Amino acid sequence: MSTAKAAVLERFNAPLQLRHYALPSQVEAGAALVRTEMAGICGTDVHLWKGELPITLPIILGHETVGRIEQLGEGLDKDWTGRELRVGDRVTWNSATSCGHCYYCAEKRQPTRCPQRRAYGIGYRCDCAPHLLGGYAEFHYLRPGTTIFGLPEDLATESVIGAGCALNTAIHGLERTGIGWRDTVVVQGAGPVGIAALAVARSAGAGQVIVLGAPAHRLEMARRFGADHVIDIDDCQSPAERIAAVRGLTRGHGADVVVECVGAPPAVVEGAEMCRAGGKYLILGHYCDAGTVAFNPHVVTRKQLQVIGSWSSEPRHLQTALEFLRATAGEFPFAAMVSHRFTLEQANEALGMTAGWKVAKSVLVP
Ligand SMILES: [Zn+2]
Ligand SMILES: [Zn+2]
Repeated sequence: MSTAKAAVLERFNAPLQLRHYALPSQVEAGAALVRTEMAGICGTDVHLWKGELPITLPIILGHETVGRIEQLGEGLDKDWTGRELRVGDRVTWNSATSCGHCYYCAEKRQPTRCPQRRAYGIGYRCDCAPHLLGGYAEFHYLRPGTTIFGLPEDLATESVIGAGCALNTAIHGLERTGIGWRDTVVVQGAGPVGIAALAVARSAGAGQVIVLGAPAHRLEMARRFGADHVIDIDDCQSPAERIAAVRGLTRGHGADVVVECVGAPPAVVEGAEMCRAGGKYLILGHYCDAGTVAFNPHVVTRKQLQVIGSWSSEPRHLQTALEFLRATAGEFPFAAMVSHRFTLEQANEALGMTAGWKVAKSVLVP
């Protein structure tokens, strides 16, 4: 095979186009060529498709990918953890790479805010070589410096893709926030990020976890992941009712930690009211600029809230995520999140499913 098929985003809000790209005849030193085994479709892909993030086209979407190594460039013989890498190994990798030596990487230790940072499936045009820099394709090129992780035999591809970038995001966000032992945690939103935040909070020692979201099958998934209480926002439609419901479950005080995983600005106004006085509010769901909302800062001062933001994740979060998935597969069914499988030819259908915000997780199996 000398070419690889890819589903390409050429115009916003228009169907992805199937294109063929030449495979590199030889991979450069430190790089790798991987045959895609499964690519996750993330909610961010829908926002990218709609043109809601500043990117230049054409691109191959897909920043949650597992594949098998086809070719290894000179000098690339170990993964990020020091484990040996060989042709045929099943691997995953961080979609974004930071430079490691700028003001934010080196001096302020905020590598996710590195100005040089670019992500596969988001930040690389596919009309120039090596083309294959996104998951919606038969092959994926891993540039030198990519943080690659070999996957152990007993860690299913479905677990890795079912967890997707949401788990790394939740691990990073909750690390910044801190969960106290037996804390009451409220998770706003039962999509992939909300489910991942629930799992991380639960395993971090939360005493009670309350999840708000819809539709029913997502809340059912939240129950499977150990939510103590779920509040269906289709039944409990007004913010006042939902705030009252949370207070009712927390002896009238509100939660120690509230995690916003919705991405809609009004959710933030509501979430701040769900925090107890002196509590913490993690705003994790606003990857897109969804606009502004009227917010009374008096709430933050009066309630002595800590408001925390968190962007993307670092390689160490993916490493922890993979260890966590392997160790807790019986407890947190991330593999079961993979609900709909599609071929590359069906990429538009798959993206449409995710855009309806109804399915747990659609994936491409090229
Ligand atoms: Zn994502
Ligand atoms: Zn940097």
